[in-house]
Amino acid sequence: MTVDTLAEIDAELKRSTTPRTTRKQVFLYLSVDQKALIRPIYNLNSVVSMMKHFKWNDNADYKVDAICAREIGEPCELCLAAQEEKKLTASKTFFVPVYVYSVVSVKTGARLTYKDPNTKEQKPVVGFRVLELSAFGKISGVLTYFRSFLRDNPEHDITVCDFTIELSNSGTSNSYVVQPQPAKPMHPQIRAKAPALEAFRKVIIEARPPQIVQNDDMALGGLDDDIPTDVSPVPAQEAEDDIPEF
Ligand SMILES: [Zn+2]
Repeated sequence: MTVDTLAEIDAELKRSTTPRTTRKQVFLYLSVDQKALIRPIYNLNSVVSMMKHFKWNDNADYKVDAICAREIGEPCELCLAAQEEKKLTASKTFFVPVYVYSVVSVKTGARLTYKDPNTKEQKPVVGFRVLELSAFGKISGVLTYFRSFLRDNPEHDITVCDFTIELSNSGTSNSYVVQPQPAKPMHPQIRAKAPALEAFRKVIIEARPPQIVQNDDMALGGLDDDIPTDVSPVPAQEAEDDIPEF
C-alpha cells in the first residue's frame, strides 16, 4: 500500500501547530538575558523522561517537535520517517516539573508576561511549568548542573532549594547559568498543589502530540473501531486545570 507519508506528516504538523498557539503555557523557555527563579518539585531521579522527535525548521509548520508515539504504545510515524531522515531520530528528553516564581529581564528588571489565551490579558509568568532538558545543545548545561547538584548535595535531592536559571550572552555565544539559593523547605502551597507526575506526563504529551501511524490495514480489521485519534489522555480543559496558578 502506497501512502504519501511526507504529505501526511506535513498535514498533521500544520494541524497540530494551529491550536497550540492558543494553549496555556506548559514549558518554561528562556530568551537571552532572562532569568527565572524556580523550584524543582520532584527529584531528578523521578522526573518524566520520554523519547522525543525534534527537527528544527524556521517555518513553524515544518518544525517537528513530538513525543514518540511508542511512549503511548502506538506505532510511530516519525520513527518510520527517521529511517530515511536521520535528523528525525528520537532522543531521550527529560521533563523536570518546576514551580516558576518569576521570570525577569536582567537588563530592565521587568517581569516576563504572556498573553492569556482565554482572557487575552497579559499575565506574569508564574506557576507550574516543565523544564525540558536533554544531553544535547546548550540546554545540556542545565541537565549537567542538576546531575552534579544531585551527586554533591548531601541530601541528593534537587528539591531542597530554589534555583535561578539565566540565559546569558557572553558576546559570542549563549549559555545557561544555574545557581542554587539557600536551602529552605518547599512552600506548603507549592507542595500541596503540585500536580502528580502522571499529570505532567499527560500535558507534555498533549503539548507535543505524537504522530501515530494511520494505516488502512489497521482501520479495516483487527483493531477496535474506536482507535483513538485524540492522543490526549485527558480532555484539554482538565489537563489545564492540572497546572494551577496562584
Ligand atoms: Zn518515534
